[in-house]
Amino acid sequence: MKRRTIVIATKNKGKLREFRSILADAYDEILSLEDFDDIPDIEETGLSFRENAYIKAKTTSDFLRMDSIGDDSGLVVDALGGAPGIYSARYAGEGASDNDNNEKLLSELKGKKNRDARFVCCISLVLVNGTQEFFEGECCGQIIQEKRGESGFGYDPVFYVPKYGKTMAELGPDIKNRISHRAIASEKLLSYFSNFN
Ligand code: IMP
Repeated sequence: MKRRTIVIATKNKGKLREFRSILADAYDEILSLEDFDDIPDIEETGLSFRENAYIKAKTTSDFLRMDSIGDDSGLVVDALGGAPGIYSARYAGEGASDNDNNEKLLSELKGKKNRDARFVCCISLVLVNGTQEFFEGECCGQIIQEKRGESGFGYDPVFYVPKYGKTMAELGPDIKNRISHRAIASEKLLSYFSNFN
């Protein structure tokens, strides 16, 4: 049988770890941009999660002539008019660390009553045979006042999931990989694949 390989268009180790776990049964080999030396930097010039996800998947697939998945994700906070949104990775500036971004978020929300937020993920699938599909997922929660928990990445320590009474960083990978925005979008991707098997 043909070996199924996909390239995840990311260098983010946290995202890649989660995709590897979620897609383990769908692919024999899951590569990332870190597995190739010569890939040019991909600029996220889109104005939506969908546009950015597509730019990542399409650029990677065209360059490598391989099937690719691009994901764009981020945190949408109601009281901040949807910020940081597509700018989540660089909310505190270019090259900002997760900690810098969390500190900025907590400071922007100081004194605000409405702490509602959601993680959003858009996955773009681009295959060499010309197929292009999108899969979206959301996970709702609230931003708490201080960081709690050690697992995950990004805004997980400040993202409280009411159903579990814990932050995403306290929940750990088993639960996160079932309920997260990325898990929900990936489930839709897996169910799309299952139509062909
Ligand atoms: P992207 O690489 O442009 O999609 O940026 C995603 C950014 O959104 C990450 O760097 C994090 O700051 C944030 N983010 C996305 N998904 C998650 C998650 O599952 N947990 C916490 N933060 C996330």
